[in-house]
Amino acid sequence: MSRLALRPTIGIDIGGTKVAAGVVDPEGTIIERTRRETPSKSKSPRVVEDTIADVVAELGARHHVLAVGIGAAGFVDGTQSSVLFAPHLAWRNEPLRDAVQQRIGLPVVVDNDANAALWAECRFGAAQGESHVVCVNLGTGIGGGVVLDGVLHRGRFGVAGEFGHMIVVPGGHRCECGNRGCWEQYASGNVLVREARELVANGSPVAYRIAETCEGDPSRITGPMISELAAQGDPAALELLEDIGHWLGVGLANLAAAFDPGLFVIGGGVSDVGDLLLDPARTTFRRTLTGRGFRPEAKVVRAALGNDAGLIGAADLARRERARRRRDRAKLVTTRLLLPRRRELIANGTPIRRSRRVSGTGTAIEPAGRRTNSAWRRQYE
Ligand SMILES: [Zn+2]
Repeated sequence: MSRLALRPTIGIDIGGTKVAAGVVDPEGTIIERTRRETPSKSKSPRVVEDTIADVVAELGARHHVLAVGIGAAGFVDGTQSSVLFAPHLAWRNEPLRDAVQQRIGLPVVVDNDANAALWAECRFGAAQGESHVVCVNLGTGIGGGVVLDGVLHRGRFGVAGEFGHMIVVPGGHRCECGNRGCWEQYASGNVLVREARELVANGSPVAYRIAETCEGDPSRITGPMISELAAQGDPAALELLEDIGHWLGVGLANLAAAFDPGLFVIGGGVSDVGDLLLDPARTTFRRTLTGRGFRPEAKVVRAALGNDAGLIGAADLARRERARRRRDRAKLVTTRLLLPRRRELIANGTPIRRSRRVSGTGTAIEPAGRRTNSAWRRQYE
């Protein structure tokens, strides 16, 4: 690996209420990190750009970085330059890449945060060594991503992987997107809270421990609270997780029918409970899978990198994009400059030899003996 390739990149994860950034080495290790809270929901793109420039300046002062990768919660267009829409930010068709690139003077890539997280899991986490991976993140909704044959698939318009809005129950619960029965209305972190609140609000006797813990106030129930109670063995909390796991399994079977992955990686806050969620998901998955009994089954595992996945993935995507641009430039030098010269020499009947590398970009074509035989040079001088 060249010395250049050993230099770190910066990964930035932009969520609804925070900007997390880190300097990441080529092995996916975070060398240094920083964070800014950006609590106002109506913040302008300008404010987020300022925050990005600010964290890059802070980290860049101490590290000689190659490039910057940004993972944003929203629809990123197919050219990975604009954020088409971000549900938690005031971004509509925002040309984020160019705006940030201009301000910080480093190459920038922008990707969807779930894609970035999936990429990190493939390179350094739970999906290492697996070529066909589908990632499902259970947060307030459900986000996800697809890697097939080792390549991240973003879709024609950049918005693939929005699994949360697959309809699993026609006419079911109303979803924020306007439809009814979307998957994320049955298997997300929000659902866990919604169902627990409903039990407590209805005074259900099975939910007495949950009611005790939230002191009778359903609005105080949180996802981590239910996870904690489930880990302690509370039957109602366990049942809620089982329900979510069941619906998770239904959706995974649908995704297996579409993508046939070797591995599902489940991330997001709810996945912290591990097998309490994943075991029921595996059971339903097996029972629902098309062609079950006659096909190999994908494994279902928990994500390994937690909240850092988005940041690490964005940093690695920036590194790869930069390497790709360098390769493209080298190809351009070869095809535009060197090959025409080679053809010219051949046409003139001049003997040629392959020669020294030109600053790592390709093979220079020179007449034979140019440097050793001054006779050739004299001939042309
Ligand atoms: Zn929906």
